[in-house]
Order: sequence, then C-alpha cells, then structure tokens
Amino acid sequence: MERRDRIAKICTDLGVNARIGQKMSHFTSLKVGGEIDAIAYPETRQQAAQLVHALNEAGIRWSPLGYGTNLLVKDGEIQRVAVSLRTLEELLVFDETRVHVHAGYSLPRLVNAAADRGLAGIQGLAPIPGSVGGAIKMNAGSHGYEIADVIETVAVARAGEVVTLKRAEIAFAYRWSPFTETDLILGTTLQLKHGDVAALKEEIKQYKQHRSATQPVRDSSAGCIFKNPGQGLTTGRIIDELGLKGKAEGGATISTLHANFIVTNGAATASEVFTLIDEIRSRVATERGIDLELEVEVWE
Ligand SMILES: Cc1cc2nc3c(=O)[nH]c(=O)nc-3n(C[C@H](O)[C@H](O)[C@H](O)COP(=O)(O)OP(=O)(O)OC[C@H]3O[C@@H](n4cnc5c(N)ncnc54)[C@H](O)[C@@H]3O)c2cc1C
Repeated sequence: MERRDRIAKICTDLGVNARIGQKMSHFTSLKVGGEIDAIAYPETRQQAAQLVHALNEAGIRWSPLGYGTNLLVKDGEIQRVAVSLRTLEELLVFDETRVHVHAGYSLPRLVNAAADRGLAGIQGLAPIPGSVGGAIKMNAGSHGYEIADVIETVAVARAGEVVTLKRAEIAFAYRWSPFTETDLILGTTLQLKHGDVAALKEEIKQYKQHRSATQPVRDSSAGCIFKNPGQGLTTGRIIDELGLKGKAEGGATISTLHANFIVTNGAATASEVFTLIDEIRSRVATERGIDLELEVEVWE
C-alpha cells in the first residue's frame, strides 16, 4: 500500500480526521513550505496518543504541528504526518490560581482569559502567536517571562498512553525544552498568582504596542530566525550592524524593522529563506566570529 493510503487507513481506523496532501505554506506564518503527506486532527488526548503510537509502529514519520509560527518547512514533498491538536475537545479550566489547558489552545487567548480572571504570571507572553503546546516545546518567552516559569505539569503521549510529567522532571533552557521530535505535548497545568485585572490588561496592552512598533507583526514571518548568542548580545543588532536589513532574495527579505526577522511576500519559497539564512550566518561568522543558532524549527 502507498504511504498516503497507509496513513489514511491508520487515521480512519482510529476515527481521526485527516487531510491528505496539504500545502504547508497554508499552515505556517512564514507562508512557505511544500506538500505534506497529511495533517491529522485527533479530538481527544487519548486518541492523539493512540494515533502517534500507531504511526510509530507503522514506521511513518510524524511531527506535532502547533500554529506554525516558528516553523520553516522546506519546498517540495514533505514525507510525514503533521499532528494538529487544534480540535482537541477539552478547552480551558480555571481552578483557583491554576489553569488546565490543552496544547492546541491559543497562547494569546489563554493570557487574555487569565488576565480577565485577575491571574498573573504569563502576561508577558501575550504578544507571542502560537499554541500552548508550541510554546512549551520552544519554551517561548518575552518581556522577561518564560512559559517554563509557571508550568506545574505537562501531559505528553508515550507509548499510546497519556503520561503526566512534573515541572521538576523537565529541564527547560532558553528557547529550549527537552521534548524530542516524537514527544507530543497534549496539555499542561500552569500555576499562576493573583493580580489586578486592570493592571494586567494595561501591561498586556503596553507589550502589544511595543511589539507593533519594533517588529513586523503584520508581515508574514516566523518571528526571530536566530537565537540571541548570549553575553547580552542581540542577534537583530548584529545583523543590522552588518548592513543586511532590507536584503532580499526573491520573495524573502530581511526585515527593515527588525533584522532578526525574515518576511515573505506570499510568493516566496523556503529555498529563498534558506539563502538569506546562509548569508546572515556566514557574514556573522566571518565578521563577528559568532556561530548563530536557529530559533525557528526546520522541517526537511
Ligand atoms: C510575529 C512573531 C513574533 C514572535 N515572538 C516570539 C517571542 O517573543 N518569543 C518567542 O519565544 N517566540 C516568538 N515567536 C515564535 C513562535 O510564536 C513561538 O515559538 C510559539 O511558541 C510557537 O508556537 P506554535 O504553536 O506556532 O508552534 P509551531 O510553529 O507549530 O511549532 C514549533 C515547534 O514546536 C513543536 N510543537 C508544536 N506543538 C507541539 C506539541 N503539542 N507538542 C510537541 N511539540 C509541539 C513543533 O513540532 C515544532 O517543532 C514569534 C513568532 C512570530 C511569527
């Protein structure tokens, strides 16, 4: 049986909705990426765990797909199944200062819902697009906040079952978590604290305004392409000082507003984005002696 037929059969047998042959450019904020075998949409945590277990058993490559805001997917055929948790049935439950939320939930929506209830601890994450699962995988952070700081537990799929890990078992680092390519994060419990509703909303508003002024938030991008290199240095400033702002390759351009962003015009290809990445890396290595590390995740 052909690979895509096998994928369709596994999904059908488990009652999971799947869309076969999807263009990843429609599912990433950078708007590049070729055709993937399938995107699967499990509706419960258990079903999600069973699906990825069945794909593992069948030797079919799969990857968790959040909202695609940190992804650079290559052009051409992508031989894998993207597992999206956008349609997980369980939504959002507040319990005193705790919140239980599934991995497919929107991070900005979660931050706003917490602020509405006077719950603090994640307000700095408000401008980060993407899902809760993607934020945990990337240990997303901004304005001095990191999602790892408020995590109490994380539920993941292991061998067809849902397993709950405690925060102490998860060694997060800057924009990094120990979750591997084949760990599907299903949900989390966050421990927040009491705050003032009006003050939280005002803080969120300030962060969003600051973003709009300093980053190309209305353009198609994947956020910062590279991590900061440490020692207080910022990659955006380094790229800017090398005069690379505005440099274009086909439909991809190094943002004139923030040099650590590559923005695309809807007609760009992943290979054009990779060309700009290679140029930035080689100039920064030659002229500054710094080996930049990608912040975006690459699907090849
Ligand atoms: C305009 C803009 C601004 C941004 N600003 C910031 C910022 O300030 N700080 C910051 O940290 N990031 C920022 N980002 C990057 C991005 O929004 C975050 O990394 C976000 O957390 C990614 O979430 P996602 O759901 O889109 O993940 P995706 O892009 O879909 O996936 C990213 C990675 O996480 C994995 N993943 C997704 N869901 C799961 C899951 N359920 N289980 C396991 N792995 C999973 C994917 O396989 C992939 O490896 C920005 C992006 C944009 C476009």
